[in-house]
Amino acid sequence: MKLDLPSTYPNRSGRVLLTGAAGFLGSHLADALLELGQHVTGVDSLTTGSRGNIAHLEGHERFTFVQADLAAGLPPAIAHASFDRIWHLASPASPIGYVRRQVLTLKVNALATMELLELAGRCAARIFLASTSECYGDPLEHPQKETYWGHVNPVGMRSMYDEGKRFLEAAAMAYHREQNVDTRIVRIFNTYGPRLAANDGRVVTNFIQQALANQPITVQGDGSQTRSLCYVDDEIRGFLLLMESPDAHMPVNIGNPQEVSVLELAREIRDMVGSTSPIVHTALPPDDPKRRCPDISLARKLLGWEPKIPRQEGLRRTIAFYRR
Ligand code: UDP
Repeated sequence: MKLDLPSTYPNRSGRVLLTGAAGFLGSHLADALLELGQHVTGVDSLTTGSRGNIAHLEGHERFTFVQADLAAGLPPAIAHASFDRIWHLASPASPIGYVRRQVLTLKVNALATMELLELAGRCAARIFLASTSECYGDPLEHPQKETYWGHVNPVGMRSMYDEGKRFLEAAAMAYHREQNVDTRIVRIFNTYGPRLAANDGRVVTNFIQQALANQPITVQGDGSQTRSLCYVDDEIRGFLLLMESPDAHMPVNIGNPQEVSVLELAREIRDMVGSTSPIVHTALPPDDPKRRCPDISLARKLLGWEPKIPRQEGLRRTIAFYRR
Protein backbone atom coordinates (compact mmCIF):
# COMPACT_ATOMS: atom_id res chain seq x y z
CA MET A 1 0.00 0.00 0.00
CA LYS A 2 1.29 3.46 -0.88
CA LEU A 3 0.66 5.38 2.35
CA ASP A 4 1.04 8.82 0.83
CA LEU A 5 1.44 10.55 4.20
CA PRO A 6 2.86 14.06 4.58
CA SER A 7 6.60 14.25 5.29
CA THR A 8 5.78 15.71 8.71
CA TYR A 9 3.93 12.50 9.77
CA PRO A 10 5.46 11.34 13.10
CA ASN A 11 7.92 8.50 12.77
CA ARG A 12 6.83 6.23 15.62
CA SER A 13 8.28 2.84 16.35
CA GLY A 14 6.01 2.17 19.32
CA ARG A 15 3.98 -0.84 20.41
CA VAL A 16 0.43 -0.89 19.17
CA LEU A 17 -2.59 -3.07 19.81
CA LEU A 18 -4.92 -3.59 16.87
CA THR A 19 -8.26 -5.32 17.43
CA GLY A 20 -9.97 -6.74 14.37
CA ALA A 21 -6.57 -7.26 12.75
CA ALA A 22 -7.80 -10.04 10.44
CA GLY A 23 -10.72 -8.03 9.13
CA PHE A 24 -10.90 -6.04 5.92
CA LEU A 25 -9.88 -2.66 7.35
CA GLY A 26 -7.84 -4.15 10.22
CA SER A 27 -5.58 -6.15 7.91
CA HIS A 28 -4.90 -3.14 5.68
CA LEU A 29 -4.20 -1.05 8.78
CA ALA A 30 -1.81 -3.74 10.07
CA ASP A 31 0.11 -3.52 6.79
CA ALA A 32 0.31 0.27 7.10
CA LEU A 33 1.46 0.24 10.75
CA LEU A 34 4.15 -2.34 9.99
CA GLU A 35 5.28 -0.26 7.03
CA LEU A 36 5.62 2.66 9.47
CA GLY A 37 7.99 0.55 11.60
CA GLN A 38 5.62 -0.17 14.48
CA HIS A 39 5.36 -3.34 16.61
CA VAL A 40 1.84 -4.62 16.13
CA THR A 41 -0.11 -7.02 18.35
CA GLY A 42 -3.13 -8.00 16.28
CA VAL A 43 -6.17 -9.59 17.93
CA ASP A 44 -9.06 -11.20 16.14
CA SER A 45 -11.64 -13.87 16.95
CA LEU A 46 -11.77 -14.86 13.26
CA THR A 47 -15.56 -14.72 13.48
CA THR A 48 -15.96 -12.38 10.52
CA GLY A 49 -12.27 -11.75 9.85
CA SER A 50 -10.15 -14.34 8.09
CA ARG A 51 -6.67 -15.71 8.59
CA GLY A 52 -6.13 -15.36 4.84
CA ASN A 53 -6.18 -11.56 5.22
CA ILE A 54 -3.06 -11.70 7.40
CA ALA A 55 -1.41 -14.85 6.02
CA HIS A 56 1.29 -12.69 4.43
CA LEU A 57 2.22 -11.33 7.90
CA GLU A 58 2.95 -14.73 9.41
CA GLY A 59 6.56 -14.74 10.58
CA HIS A 60 6.87 -10.94 10.36
CA GLU A 61 9.26 -9.98 13.17
CA ARG A 62 7.15 -7.03 14.35
CA PHE A 63 3.74 -8.73 14.12
CA THR A 64 2.18 -10.93 16.82
CA PHE A 65 -1.24 -12.48 16.36
CA VAL A 66 -3.55 -13.39 19.24
CA GLN A 67 -6.77 -15.23 18.45
CA ALA A 68 -9.31 -14.17 21.05
CA ASP A 69 -12.95 -13.20 21.37
CA LEU A 70 -12.91 -9.78 23.06
CA ALA A 71 -16.61 -10.08 23.83
CA ALA A 72 -15.53 -12.62 26.49
CA GLY A 73 -13.05 -10.19 28.10
CA LEU A 74 -9.49 -9.13 27.30
CA PRO A 75 -7.09 -12.10 27.22
CA PRO A 76 -4.34 -11.83 29.89
CA ALA A 77 -1.63 -11.41 27.23
CA ILE A 78 -3.30 -8.13 26.33
CA ALA A 79 -4.79 -7.00 29.62
CA HIS A 80 -1.34 -7.01 31.28
CA ALA A 81 0.67 -5.65 28.36
CA SER A 82 1.56 -2.05 27.67
CA PHE A 83 0.90 -0.19 24.44
CA ASP A 84 1.24 3.39 23.35
CA ARG A 85 -1.44 3.24 20.68
CA ILE A 86 -4.62 1.13 20.68
CA TRP A 87 -6.80 0.72 17.59
CA HIS A 88 -10.22 -0.81 18.25
CA LEU A 89 -11.67 -2.06 14.97
CA ALA A 90 -13.04 -5.44 16.11
CA SER A 91 -16.74 -5.84 15.28
CA PRO A 92 -18.93 -7.47 12.69
CA ALA A 93 -19.51 -4.64 10.22
CA SER A 94 -21.73 -5.85 7.39
CA PRO A 95 -25.53 -5.98 7.73
CA ILE A 96 -25.44 -9.78 7.28
CA GLY A 97 -22.53 -10.05 9.75
CA TYR A 98 -24.14 -8.15 12.60
CA VAL A 99 -27.68 -9.43 12.16
CA ARG A 100 -26.32 -12.99 12.45
CA ARG A 101 -24.37 -12.05 15.61
CA GLN A 102 -26.49 -9.48 17.40
CA VAL A 103 -25.40 -10.07 21.01
CA LEU A 104 -21.75 -10.43 20.03
CA THR A 105 -21.92 -7.14 18.11
CA LEU A 106 -23.27 -5.34 21.18
CA LYS A 107 -20.70 -6.96 23.47
CA VAL A 108 -17.66 -6.16 21.35
CA ASN A 109 -18.76 -2.55 20.89
CA ALA A 110 -19.88 -2.00 24.47
CA LEU A 111 -18.07 -4.35 26.90
CA ALA A 112 -14.80 -4.70 24.95
CA THR A 113 -14.76 -0.96 24.24
CA MET A 114 -15.01 -0.20 28.00
CA GLU A 115 -12.21 -2.64 28.79
CA LEU A 116 -9.98 -1.19 26.08
CA LEU A 117 -10.67 2.35 27.33
CA GLU A 118 -9.62 1.16 30.81
CA LEU A 119 -6.48 -0.39 29.33
CA ALA A 120 -5.72 2.85 27.46
CA GLY A 121 -6.06 4.74 30.76
CA ARG A 122 -3.72 2.30 32.55
CA CYS A 123 -0.96 2.50 29.93
CA ALA A 124 -1.56 6.15 29.00
CA ALA A 125 -2.10 4.98 25.43
CA ARG A 126 -3.96 6.94 22.81
CA ILE A 127 -7.00 4.94 21.67
CA PHE A 128 -8.70 5.08 18.27
CA LEU A 129 -12.26 3.73 18.09
CA ALA A 130 -13.96 2.67 14.89
CA SER A 131 -17.45 4.12 14.71
CA THR A 132 -19.68 4.31 11.67
CA SER A 133 -21.92 6.34 9.42
CA GLU A 134 -24.65 4.04 10.81
CA CYS A 135 -24.68 6.41 13.81
CA TYR A 136 -26.71 8.65 11.49
CA GLY A 137 -29.21 5.83 10.84
CA ASP A 138 -31.52 6.60 7.92
CA PRO A 139 -30.46 10.26 7.85
CA LEU A 140 -32.79 13.19 7.32
CA GLU A 141 -29.90 15.58 6.59
CA HIS A 142 -27.64 15.43 3.53
CA PRO A 143 -24.73 15.26 3.43
CA GLN A 144 -24.15 14.10 7.02
CA LYS A 145 -22.08 16.42 9.19
CA GLU A 146 -20.61 15.23 12.49
CA THR A 147 -22.95 17.64 14.29
CA TYR A 148 -26.04 15.75 13.02
CA TRP A 149 -27.50 13.54 15.79
CA GLY A 150 -28.95 10.97 13.46
CA HIS A 151 -32.21 9.15 12.85
CA VAL A 152 -31.81 5.67 14.27
CA ASN A 153 -34.38 2.98 14.97
CA PRO A 154 -33.27 1.78 18.44
CA VAL A 155 -35.05 -1.58 18.10
CA GLY A 156 -34.69 -2.14 14.34
CA MET A 157 -32.75 -4.76 12.38
CA ARG A 158 -29.60 -2.62 12.44
CA SER A 159 -29.93 -1.48 16.05
CA MET A 160 -27.34 -3.90 17.48
CA TYR A 161 -24.74 -2.22 15.28
CA ASP A 162 -26.02 1.38 15.20
CA GLU A 163 -26.67 1.57 18.94
CA GLY A 164 -23.55 -0.47 19.72
CA LYS A 165 -21.45 2.11 17.89
CA ARG A 166 -23.37 5.03 19.43
CA PHE A 167 -22.58 3.52 22.83
CA LEU A 168 -18.91 3.18 21.80
CA GLU A 169 -18.84 6.91 21.03
CA ALA A 170 -20.53 7.80 24.32
CA ALA A 171 -18.05 5.59 26.21
CA ALA A 172 -15.09 7.24 24.48
CA MET A 173 -16.36 10.71 25.37
CA ALA A 174 -17.08 9.72 28.99
CA TYR A 175 -13.59 8.24 29.52
CA HIS A 176 -12.08 11.28 27.86
CA ARG A 177 -14.03 13.80 29.93
CA GLU A 178 -13.82 12.04 33.28
CA GLN A 179 -10.47 10.26 33.09
CA ASN A 180 -8.67 12.25 30.43
CA VAL A 181 -8.17 9.19 28.21
CA ASP A 182 -6.70 10.30 24.89
CA THR A 183 -9.43 9.18 22.47
CA ARG A 184 -10.02 9.41 18.72
CA ILE A 185 -13.33 8.46 17.08
CA VAL A 186 -13.73 7.86 13.36
CA ARG A 187 -17.10 7.55 11.63
CA ILE A 188 -16.39 5.20 8.76
CA PHE A 189 -18.55 5.39 5.64
CA ASN A 190 -18.84 2.54 3.11
CA THR A 191 -15.35 1.40 2.19
CA TYR A 192 -14.35 -1.15 -0.43
CA GLY A 193 -11.27 -2.77 -1.90
CA PRO A 194 -9.32 -6.03 -1.89
CA ARG A 195 -9.99 -8.42 1.04
CA LEU A 196 -13.59 -7.33 1.61
CA ALA A 197 -15.15 -10.68 2.56
CA ALA A 198 -16.60 -12.35 -0.50
CA ASN A 199 -19.55 -13.82 1.39
CA ASP A 200 -20.83 -11.04 3.63
CA GLY A 201 -23.32 -9.57 1.22
CA ARG A 202 -21.74 -6.13 0.70
CA VAL A 203 -22.87 -4.29 -2.37
CA VAL A 204 -19.50 -3.94 -4.13
CA THR A 205 -18.37 -7.54 -3.59
CA ASN A 206 -21.77 -8.97 -4.49
CA PHE A 207 -21.97 -6.98 -7.71
CA ILE A 208 -18.38 -7.75 -8.77
CA GLN A 209 -18.74 -11.48 -8.11
CA GLN A 210 -22.12 -11.64 -9.86
CA ALA A 211 -20.78 -9.70 -12.85
CA LEU A 212 -17.67 -11.89 -13.12
CA ALA A 213 -19.85 -15.02 -13.11
CA ASN A 214 -22.38 -13.52 -15.58
CA GLN A 215 -25.01 -14.18 -12.91
CA PRO A 216 -27.92 -11.79 -12.20
CA ILE A 217 -26.86 -8.64 -10.35
CA THR A 218 -29.15 -8.32 -7.32
CA VAL A 219 -30.24 -4.71 -6.82
CA GLN A 220 -32.26 -4.51 -3.62
CA GLY A 221 -35.36 -2.36 -3.98
CA ASP A 222 -35.49 -0.03 -6.98
CA GLY A 223 -31.79 0.84 -6.54
CA SER A 224 -32.41 4.55 -6.00
CA GLN A 225 -30.85 4.38 -2.51
CA THR A 226 -27.38 5.91 -2.48
CA ARG A 227 -24.04 5.16 -0.89
CA SER A 228 -20.68 6.94 -1.10
CA LEU A 229 -17.82 4.54 -1.59
CA CYS A 230 -14.31 5.14 -0.31
CA TYR A 231 -11.35 3.10 -1.54
CA VAL A 232 -9.54 1.37 1.30
CA ASP A 233 -6.16 3.11 0.85
CA ASP A 234 -7.83 6.52 1.23
CA GLU A 235 -9.72 5.34 4.31
CA ILE A 236 -6.57 3.98 6.00
CA ARG A 237 -4.66 7.22 5.32
CA GLY A 238 -7.52 9.08 7.02
CA PHE A 239 -7.23 6.76 10.06
CA LEU A 240 -3.47 7.31 10.34
CA LEU A 241 -3.84 11.09 10.12
CA LEU A 242 -6.64 11.16 12.69
CA MET A 243 -4.68 9.01 15.17
CA GLU A 244 -1.78 11.46 15.14
CA SER A 245 -3.88 14.63 15.05
CA PRO A 246 -3.51 16.48 18.36
CA ASP A 247 -6.58 16.85 20.60
CA ALA A 248 -9.08 15.50 18.06
CA HIS A 249 -11.50 13.92 20.53
CA MET A 250 -14.78 14.53 18.72
CA PRO A 251 -15.92 12.13 15.97
CA VAL A 252 -14.61 12.72 12.45
CA ASN A 253 -16.24 11.44 9.24
CA ILE A 254 -13.86 9.60 6.94
CA GLY A 255 -15.50 8.64 3.66
CA ASN A 256 -15.77 9.59 0.04
CA PRO A 257 -18.42 12.26 -0.62
CA GLN A 258 -19.04 11.11 -4.19
CA GLU A 259 -22.56 9.68 -3.96
CA VAL A 260 -23.84 6.98 -6.31
CA SER A 261 -27.15 5.15 -6.51
CA VAL A 262 -27.06 1.38 -6.11
CA LEU A 263 -28.58 0.94 -9.59
CA GLU A 264 -25.95 3.20 -11.18
CA LEU A 265 -23.26 1.23 -9.37
CA ALA A 266 -24.64 -2.06 -10.69
CA ARG A 267 -24.46 -0.75 -14.27
CA GLU A 268 -21.00 0.71 -13.73
CA ILE A 269 -19.57 -2.56 -12.39
CA ARG A 270 -21.27 -4.63 -15.09
CA ASP A 271 -19.76 -2.39 -17.79
CA MET A 272 -16.29 -2.40 -16.24
CA VAL A 273 -16.30 -6.20 -16.00
CA GLY A 274 -17.70 -6.51 -19.52
CA SER A 275 -20.38 -8.84 -18.21
CA THR A 276 -23.67 -10.00 -19.70
CA SER A 277 -25.38 -10.20 -16.27
CA PRO A 278 -28.99 -9.05 -16.17
CA ILE A 279 -29.95 -6.66 -13.38
CA VAL A 280 -32.70 -8.10 -11.14
CA HIS A 281 -34.52 -6.42 -8.29
CA THR A 282 -34.90 -8.16 -4.91
CA ALA A 283 -36.51 -7.11 -1.64
CA LEU A 284 -35.02 -4.16 0.22
CA PRO A 285 -33.90 -5.23 3.72
CA PRO A 286 -35.60 -3.48 6.68
CA ASP A 287 -34.18 -0.12 7.82
CA ASP A 288 -31.93 0.20 4.77
CA PRO A 289 -30.80 3.86 4.74
CA LYS A 290 -32.10 5.69 1.67
CA ARG A 291 -29.19 8.07 1.29
CA ARG A 292 -25.73 8.22 2.76
CA CYS A 293 -23.03 10.76 2.02
CA PRO A 294 -20.39 12.23 4.32
CA ASP A 295 -19.68 15.90 4.76
CA ILE A 296 -15.88 15.81 5.06
CA SER A 297 -15.21 19.50 5.78
CA LEU A 298 -13.96 18.63 9.26
CA ALA A 299 -11.48 15.99 7.99
CA ARG A 300 -10.26 18.45 5.35
CA LYS A 301 -9.73 21.19 7.92
CA LEU A 302 -8.38 19.10 10.79
CA LEU A 303 -6.33 16.51 8.90
CA GLY A 304 -5.84 17.98 5.45
CA TRP A 305 -7.43 14.71 4.29
CA GLU A 306 -9.62 13.98 1.33
CA PRO A 307 -9.95 10.87 -0.83
CA LYS A 308 -7.64 10.73 -3.84
CA ILE A 309 -8.71 7.54 -5.61
CA PRO A 310 -11.70 7.98 -7.93
CA ARG A 311 -14.37 5.25 -7.95
CA GLN A 312 -13.42 4.02 -11.43
CA GLU A 313 -9.84 3.44 -10.32
CA GLY A 314 -10.81 1.85 -7.00
CA LEU A 315 -13.27 -0.45 -8.72
CA ARG A 316 -10.67 -1.38 -11.35
CA ARG A 317 -8.27 -2.49 -8.60
CA THR A 318 -11.00 -4.33 -6.69
CA ILE A 319 -12.27 -6.14 -9.79
CA ALA A 320 -8.66 -7.19 -10.55
CA PHE A 321 -8.39 -8.63 -7.01
CA TYR A 322 -11.60 -10.69 -7.32
CA ARG A 323 -10.64 -11.89 -10.81
CA ARG A 324 -7.51 -13.38 -9.24
N1 UDP B 1 -27.36 -3.92 -1.91
C1 UDP B 1 -27.94 -4.38 -3.09
N2 UDP B 1 -27.61 -5.63 -3.53
C2 UDP B 1 -26.74 -6.44 -2.88
C3 UDP B 1 -26.17 -5.97 -1.66
C4 UDP B 1 -26.51 -4.71 -1.21
O1 UDP B 1 -28.72 -3.66 -3.74
O2 UDP B 1 -26.49 -7.55 -3.35
C5 UDP B 1 -27.73 -2.56 -1.44
C6 UDP B 1 -28.28 -2.52 -0.01
O3 UDP B 1 -29.68 -2.67 -0.01
C7 UDP B 1 -27.86 -1.14 0.43
C8 UDP B 1 -26.58 -0.86 -0.33
O4 UDP B 1 -26.55 -1.80 -1.39
O5 UDP B 1 -28.83 -0.18 0.05
C9 UDP B 1 -25.33 -1.04 0.51
O6 UDP B 1 -25.39 -2.27 1.18
P1 UDP B 1 -24.19 -2.88 2.01
O7 UDP B 1 -24.66 -4.18 2.58
O8 UDP B 1 -22.96 -2.93 1.18
O9 UDP B 1 -23.89 -1.86 3.20
P2 UDP B 1 -24.74 -0.78 4.05
O10 UDP B 1 -24.31 0.53 3.50
O11 UDP B 1 -26.21 -1.00 3.84
O12 UDP B 1 -24.32 -1.00 5.44
